[in-house]
Amino acid sequence: MRYRCYICSSTFEVTTEHYRCDCGGLFVLEIENSVLEVDRSDWSLWRYRSLIPVITDSSSTPTISMGEGMTPLVADSDGSFLKLDFLNPTLSYKDRGSVVLVALAKALGVKEVAIDSSGNAGVSVAAYARRASIGAHVFVPESTSPKKVRQLQLFNAEVHKGGDRSFAALAIAEFLDGRPEIFYASHVYNPFFAHGVKTVLFEIFEQLQMRLPTEIVVPVGNGTLVLGIHEAINDLKRASLIQTGPKIMAVQAQACAPIYEAFRQVPSSSYSSPTETIAEGIAITSPPRVNEIISAISESNGDVIAVSENEILDAQRGLLQRGVDVEPTAAATYAGYLALRKSGCIEDACVVVLTGAGLKSR
Ligand SMILES: *Cc1c(COP(=O)(O)O)cnc(C)c1O
Ligand SMILES: [Zn+2]
Repeated sequence: MRYRCYICSSTFEVTTEHYRCDCGGLFVLEIENSVLEVDRSDWSLWRYRSLIPVITDSSSTPTISMGEGMTPLVADSDGSFLKLDFLNPTLSYKDRGSVVLVALAKALGVKEVAIDSSGNAGVSVAAYARRASIGAHVFVPESTSPKKVRQLQLFNAEVHKGGDRSFAALAIAEFLDGRPEIFYASHVYNPFFAHGVKTVLFEIFEQLQMRLPTEIVVPVGNGTLVLGIHEAINDLKRASLIQTGPKIMAVQAQACAPIYEAFRQVPSSSYSSPTETIAEGIAITSPPRVNEIISAISESNGDVIAVSENEILDAQRGLLQRGVDVEPTAAATYAGYLALRKSGCIEDACVVVLTGAGLKSR
């Protein structure tokens, strides 16, 4: 197992103190071929641990696990399904990646981790770091809600607050510079994260009796969910369990849609500032892995669509009418699903992944 630079293909040991290549390229993870063996005695995403990268003992579930994964798949109308992935320990799908990332940090023997995030990733990493007795520095924008800051503090994280989201990214880069002993537990930069997230597709495969939907609808901001699903499709193909994967239908908010614009090749002037959408989890103006995200979506024959603020609010109300309470970012995904269904782009059963709980935003 090693890191390879996505741009220049240089390789690095996973024990490296670098979080990206000297050329500026981001790391992808190269893993030796392994087989998918489901451990049915384990009721968490670690039942797929034969395909989850860990650098120490891979024969047992890490002690920091809080039973993440194994979220419900419930029937929606029109034969489609909702994957209630906000039912994870810290109420977002991010726990799938954080547990793997913090397991790595623990195996590397680091004492402190740092992460920049506007919300769910920070809370999730802080929770697992606390559980692993690792210190956490979380860099958040000034606008972060007091409730989230309080939750970070309850997990004993040191909160560094100031500026906007891109300022937080700059501030953490400066903080990490000259502190090689601090592990950058970034859901965006560190490719282990997506290898935890990918388990969502293994679960859907099991829940649908060893089948996959024709389409899977997911939100996209920094793309860890898109890239995780892409990895999972490759794993299932390699295991000869499927011939083709689902089309990845990725959803952005019109107010901040760089991936939509790059994929559809429309001019980028139409989006302005991330603060203009209530879907804060996908309000990412320049996602570092944009090229990887676009090739993952194309390879799956998928598409990217963008939804308006009104569509997001309508979708949130629509889900509430079914007893499902999600945050606006997750409602955006459902809005994307409704738009695709209306335009006839989705005819068969599909799965909509709902990523964050409503309580997060109240
Ligand atoms: C982080 C997040 C997303 C976006 O995931 P990316 O990996 O950035 O594409 C979507 N929904 C919720 C609730 C999130 O927390
Ligand atoms: Zn490089």
